[in-house]
Order: sequence, then C-alpha cells, then structure tokens
Amino acid sequence: MEWSIEHDSVTGEEYIAVDMRGEPLLRDPFTNKSTAFTAAEREALGLDGLVPPAISTIDQQLARVYENYRVKQTPLERYIHLASLQDRNETLFFRLVHDHIAEMMPIVYTPVVGQACQQFSHIYRRPRGLYISYEQRDRIDAILANHARPPAVIVVTDGERILGLGDQGVGGMGIPTGKLSLYTACAGIPPYLTLPIMLDVGTGNQERLNDPLYLGLRHQRIRGAEYQDFIDRFVEAVMRVYPAAVLQWEDFLKANAITQLARFGDRLCTFNDDIQGTAAVVVAGLYAALRITGQAMRDQRVVLGGAGAAAQGIANLFVAALCDAGLSHEEARRRICTVDSRGLVTEARADMEDFKAAYARPVADVASYVCRDPGHITLEETVRNFAPTILVGTSGTSGLFTEGVIRAMAAANDRPIVFPLSNPTSKSECTAEEAIRWSDGRAIVATGSPFDPVVYGGRTHRIGQGNNAFVFPGVGLGLWAGGVRRATNAMFLDAARALAQLVSQADLDQGAVYPELTRIRHCSHAVACAVIRRAVAEGHAAPEVLPGLEETVSRAMWFPAYRPMRYRRHVPA
Ligand code: NAD
Repeated sequence: MEWSIEHDSVTGEEYIAVDMRGEPLLRDPFTNKSTAFTAAEREALGLDGLVPPAISTIDQQLARVYENYRVKQTPLERYIHLASLQDRNETLFFRLVHDHIAEMMPIVYTPVVGQACQQFSHIYRRPRGLYISYEQRDRIDAILANHARPPAVIVVTDGERILGLGDQGVGGMGIPTGKLSLYTACAGIPPYLTLPIMLDVGTGNQERLNDPLYLGLRHQRIRGAEYQDFIDRFVEAVMRVYPAAVLQWEDFLKANAITQLARFGDRLCTFNDDIQGTAAVVVAGLYAALRITGQAMRDQRVVLGGAGAAAQGIANLFVAALCDAGLSHEEARRRICTVDSRGLVTEARADMEDFKAAYARPVADVASYVCRDPGHITLEETVRNFAPTILVGTSGTSGLFTEGVIRAMAAANDRPIVFPLSNPTSKSECTAEEAIRWSDGRAIVATGSPFDPVVYGGRTHRIGQGNNAFVFPGVGLGLWAGGVRRATNAMFLDAARALAQLVSQADLDQGAVYPELTRIRHCSHAVACAVIRRAVAEGHAAPEVLPGLEETVSRAMWFPAYRPMRYRRHVPA
C-alpha cells in the first residue's frame, strides 16, 4: 500500500502516511497537494524544487482552477477541465465541486456527462475504474483484484441505455464515473473507496462500431442466456472479491435492470438508482408537497405519464407509502393510472409486461369514462375522468403535458401537484412556467432538470429539482457506514421521508418541494441515518450501530481538505 490514513497517537489528528517520496506523490491524485505542500512536507517528502516556491492555500488554488474553469467556452470543455483536475488532484477537484455544486453538478453529471459518453473514445485521457469485457469472463476475479483497494461502493453499467442517449457501448463508462463523483461530492464517500465498472458486451451502436477510435469491443451486443451468464459471473465475483461492497446498477436497459434487481436483490447489498432512487426522490417531493396542500398521503391519486423503469419504481414506492398510511395493497394499487404512448393502460390490452399489467385499470372502471376512443384513452381524458391529485411525467416526451392536461389538473385540485421529470430540459413534459401559468399559479411544480424561478401573479416560484442526487449518495453512505447487508424498498421510503423533512418552511413558502442543492451533504447525512435505522429494524444491520449513529455517519463522511502528510519508512519484511 502506497499510503494510508492514520491518526496521531498523541493528538488524534488525521494524517496521510505515505511510502513514496518525490514525484510519485505529485502523480497520485489522492496524495497530490501540488503548490499546497508545506515547506516542511516539501523537505521531508523530497519535493523541493518539484513545485514552484510559493506555497498556496487551498483557497488560492480554488481561485486559480475556478478562473481556468470559467474561461472554458463550452460545457464539454468544462467537463474535460474538471476530469483532468480530478485525475491530478482529487482533493482540489472535490472541494471545487463542493463549493460550486449547483453550477457544476450538470457538468460532472447529467446532462453534460451524456456528451462526454458520446465522445468518450475521442476525449479519453486517463484510466479510471475497471473495464471487464465479455471475452474476459473467465478472469473476472483477477480483474476485480487489480483494483487498488476494496471499494465501499461500486457503480456498474453495460452502457446500453445511457441517459436518453441510448447505447453508447464502452463510452457509458462516463456514467458510473460521474455518479461516483457525486457519491463523494454529495455524501462524502471517500473517493478512494469508489469503483466504477464498465461491463463491455459489445454495442448495437453502428456509429461507434464504425469509429476507428472506438475503445470498446467491436461486435454487436451479446444477448440472452450468454449475457445473463456473464452478469451472473460478474456478481458472483464481486461477492467473492469484495463481499462488503454496495453494488449499484446504472443505466441498463429497462428489462435488464428489472431482471438484475429481482435476481440479486436478496443475495447482496444492491440497488438500482434509475428505479429505486428515482422513486424515493419523487415520493420525497410528494411528502413535501403535502405539507403545502395540508392533505394526507392516504387521500392521494396519481397519474403517471410514461410507464418505463422510472414509473415502475415510483408506482411501487407510492403504493408502499399509501399502505404505510393505512390502505390495503389493492386499494393503493387502484390509486394509480399509468399512461404510455398507447394511452391509458387497461386490462383490455394483450401481452403486457408485468409492471404494466400490475397497474392496468380494470375494464369496468373505465367503462364510464368520457372519451373519444375507449381503445385509446388519452392522458388528458385520463386526468379528466380519474381526477388525480398528482401528475408525474417520466415519458421522455416534451409537450406531453399540454395546456388541456394542466387545466384538467387545475379543475380537479386547488393545488395540483405536477412533476414533469423527464431529462434533459428539452424533454421535460412541460416547462415549469407552463405548469404554473396554465394552472393560474396554483400548481406545485418539481422538475427533473433545473428550471429558473417563475414569476407569476406577482409571486416568485422557486422550482425544486427532483434530482436523484438527493437520495442515492445518502443511501450509499448509509449502506456502507452502517454495514448494511441488503437494500430494501422500506429503506428508500424512509429515505424519502427524511428528505421531505429537510425541506424548510422557507422552501415551501417559495413553492419548492426540494431543498437547495447547497444543503446536499446535510440531506445525505439524514438519508444515511434513516437507511441505517430501517436496516436495523429489518434485521439487515447490527443494532450496535444505533448509539451515536449521527456522529458515526458524520465521521464516515470524507471532506475535501488537505491532511498533513508524513513519510513512513518501509521496514523490509
Ligand atoms: P423508459 O424508456 O424506461 O420509459 C419511458 C416510458 O415513456 C415508456 O413506458 C414509454 O412507453 C413512455 N412514453 C413514450 N412516449 C410517450 C408518450 N407520448 N406518452 C406517454 N408515454 C410515453 O425511461 P425511464 O428510465 O423510465 O426514464 C424516463 C424519463 O424520466 C427520462 O427522460 C429520464 O430522464 C426521466 N427521469 C428523471 C428522473 C429525475 O428527475 N429524478 C429520474 C429518472 C428518470
């Protein structure tokens, strides 16, 4: 091991003990402090002359890198600038992102990371994480062991459904890398305990296959039994090599995402953010919105526009919230309507996938609906007839929430709850301004992408962003810091409640149902504690973690600041 984090035996102060001297310290992004090495460290660590004479504070370094960041002209140039800073000096990178979280989150993660995935083979600079290809399926244990140290959190993708951009093959690696940066920036998971993994099974993206610079396997995707066998081998290898790691699935095709969650959810500590994290952040927004309307959860009815992976997670967690409020499972299920590209999902449809079948309306229920074509009941007709209190969009379709749809919501509710969640901004089902204007200023709006505040009728509405980053980093922190053995839906429901409680009265007064992003570490801490408490209650974590829990979680959260560094002389074995 080239370095480790230690504590002074007398003062208790944290420091980094290093086995290397000189240039290697500047090349390792975790040990590199660049111009911030003190005079004593420079002398003791053989760094004299390798950096300019002036000694910078971290604030001076931040001013320098931020100035350079601002002169970059395009979002992709800013992404590359930040990625190279991360490769050079992780402490400075994370402190910069921490200090400018609202400005930089869209660069480090969605939407700009999508562009970086598309350009991956052209902007590739330095390795990060692990690449495991189908051809290496007999050596997965050895490849995992090549990583420097056992990780706390692994994020894995196969690159097939990258954001709204489809199959990016090996370029999908940008997503686990970006996501893990958020685990560190938002919840303080130490960066050296995060591991992004790309499972390369080929790509169906012909443009990538034709690109001479493409860095992945050059064949069509492996599918079917061979694909599943590869995934099984990967998960089993993770369980052998890194049994304590949390495994998060990311941007898999919906059917594969659902399959893997069902297959492995009971075998290791694993979750899918696209499904469970999204659900928790949306349900948190609903709990907060009910603090504005003064209504009870048990009286809510929801229409979901879009019936994909996100909708499935939201529907299931909404049912859990209603059951928790006293409804039977059957009563709760009937409070949900799903609408996809073929209109309201009813039991009249043949050949439905399990999720759609679970929430399909009985034909008798819709027999009395006023509509033009009972074979295709539109979203607006669904809203008029079903009169939901909540409308959520996860359709990836801009314009789906028309004026008619929003006016129908406003006719049924004093304060309609309208969440057009599709990303990026161009795909949002309506704009925040439209939802507010068409409801005469009454809609409580949250979006998936950031929107500027909306001024209507002399009032300014701040638009809360239902950003998954409010949930998944805190969940990961809780699962890791609490030594939790399984991730369950009940933990996500408690995470949602914890987040909703952190929405302040000032946020609610402005119409916002999520906290400001600047409070995200605070949110992650609360989410982590909620996850651990539920884990203990469900028997998935040891009760010994409960006394002093808040302090334990705080101490587990790494903060990007320089620690003193001391040379540790090698004692030959
Ligand atoms: P998905 O591809 O699994 O699902 C999309 C669904 O929309 C499908 O069921 C499809 O039939 C339906 N659809 C397409 N056109 C439609 C139309 N005209 N009317 C009604 N339904 C239509 O994708 P997903 O993973 O569920 O994500 C969907 C969207 O949700 C994406 O844009 C994503 O960015 C967004 N999302 C937002 C958040 C967030 O804000 N926190 C989290 C996750 C996903």
